[in-house]
Amino acid sequence: MARYSGPACRLCRREGTKLFLKGTRCFTEKCAVERRGYPPGQHGAAVSGKGGGRKMSEYAKQLREKQKVKRIYGLNEQQFRNTFEAATHEPGVKGTNLLIALESRLDNLVYRMGFTTSRRGARQLVRHGHVEVNGRRVDIPSYHVEPGQEVRVASSAREMVPVKVAQEMATRGSSLTWLSVDNQKCAGRMTMRPTRDAIPTNAQEQLIVELYSK
Ligand code: SF4
Repeated sequence: MARYSGPACRLCRREGTKLFLKGTRCFTEKCAVERRGYPPGQHGAAVSGKGGGRKMSEYAKQLREKQKVKRIYGLNEQQFRNTFEAATHEPGVKGTNLLIALESRLDNLVYRMGFTTSRRGARQLVRHGHVEVNGRRVDIPSYHVEPGQEVRVASSAREMVPVKVAQEMATRGSSLTWLSVDNQKCAGRMTMRPTRDAIPTNAQEQLIVELYSK
């Protein structure tokens, strides 16, 4: 299934919540959820104006939650499903395993460490070969990083404007107890697998487990 390449803000409006897909813009009043907090499309405003109050079925809630989390991490349907399947083979709680697997992706860690302002930016940085893991270039955004491995922005990319902007903003990485980040060196490590409580997301992963268990 092809990757979604349309407007990112449309996805947030569809899910009715900020997914923080566009970096610095998400923290400004230009955010589309702030300005047009109703679903996209011809009838979005009308439905919203009438209260949009149709009660969602259990299935609809599960589906929306899956779509939300999938969009936050920037995966397509098949990638997300594969990640879930792999997570179910790990010992522990399936939903938590899913989130840990998503958080362990290289593109997510580049974002969490504060080297880019969005996961999309992180994905691009990785794709373009600007990220190293344990000193070796890795250009696969889905690369699964193990605790202890060093993630580093290549020295040739540290002066790039998006990296500079992100670093100036960067406080995100340091607030996560399972990451250690050296901003000067543009490098960091996942010191341990995060616990559910330490993953800053409002995802209701149990709904996704229920959806895929049908
Ligand atoms: Fe979503 Fe960011 Fe767009 Fe706001 S600015 S709608 S949070 S992508």
